[in-house]
Amino acid sequence: MKITHVEVWTVPVPAPSPPFKWRAGLPGSGVAGERGILRIGTDTGATGVAYASRPGSASMLRDLVDRVWRDELLGQDPLQREHLYHRIWELDRLEEFALPYLGTVDLALWDLAAREAGLPLWQFLGGARTRIPAYASTTTFDTTEEFLAVADRALELGYPAIKLHAWGDARRDAALCQALRDHVGPDVPLMYDGSAGFDLPDAISLGHALSDANYLWYEEPMREFSVSAYAALGRAVRVPLLSAETSDGSYMNSADFVSAGAATFGLRLSSELRGGISGAMRTAHLADAFRLRAEPHGMGEAERHLCMAVSNATYYESLVTHTEFVRTDGIDAEGYLLAPVGPGVSLPRGLDYPHALADYVNPDPVALALAAA
Ligand SMILES: [Mg+2]
Repeated sequence: MKITHVEVWTVPVPAPSPPFKWRAGLPGSGVAGERGILRIGTDTGATGVAYASRPGSASMLRDLVDRVWRDELLGQDPLQREHLYHRIWELDRLEEFALPYLGTVDLALWDLAAREAGLPLWQFLGGARTRIPAYASTTTFDTTEEFLAVADRALELGYPAIKLHAWGDARRDAALCQALRDHVGPDVPLMYDGSAGFDLPDAISLGHALSDANYLWYEEPMREFSVSAYAALGRAVRVPLLSAETSDGSYMNSADFVSAGAATFGLRLSSELRGGISGAMRTAHLADAFRLRAEPHGMGEAERHLCMAVSNATYYESLVTHTEFVRTDGIDAEGYLLAPVGPGVSLPRGLDYPHALADYVNPDPVALALAAA
């Protein structure tokens, strides 16, 4: 089999409604725009796609395909994923691909191979489970009362655990974390994500508050470029650290977090941010070898497959953006994400795709289960 086509398609994506906020200093939910989809085609008719979720991805992918990737890929065997993964890293040495694009080619190649096998990606990778509990991952609300109302709604809808993205103020966030613990009682697993809003002294003081409130994990309180700072945090606080979500270097950098004692809960897992499926699976196995968790970063279609393929994952991350939120697709009435149906990965459901891409959208497994019942 040989690669004969490397194309970029686009799809319009509406602005989130209602809009939502992140911590002080970060932009909120953003505006409508185009997203890019990479499609790799072959002389046998086999194809694979990869959706690039970031704003600006349509123009970014067009540039990378036209300038770098098409010439590299044409004529190659798409089933030689390891060889091509190594080639992407070689090209990265001069290009320094932006992190969310490092794994785009790899994702499309895994999609192609799983489609050829007639399997959903998670099963092609080696299935670990067919459903996983989803945690409600909040955006940032104005008041403690709104956060508590969102927590109530999440528990009502069946979500077994809750993660806060709070204000980015160490004292105020510490008080919110304790208020949420007092509100839900001792048995609900709670997590906190700092979205890199702090320096080391504030990260330590907030970490003490999270230990006191018995939080399950403490995620990304600082930018993840100083492993030494994270190692110091790991020595200073008892709450376990979930690390290496947005740092460059994929599994190689994740390894440094582990060896420094800076990932005491585990490693963040993502196709988009860990260099495709090949980088994500290396990261998951690395964590497993050290008896650590590998926790999928939320909401991407590929990440749903990782949730089912990786034995040391605990939860699926489901973003909740307002107090009257409803379950997102793929999550059943018990708060579990159901295994995606195949073939391949699926493009995100609910978007207005060009006709040529409509067949890459797989059905919602919850709708299928209800129809079969
Ligand atoms: Mg995070």
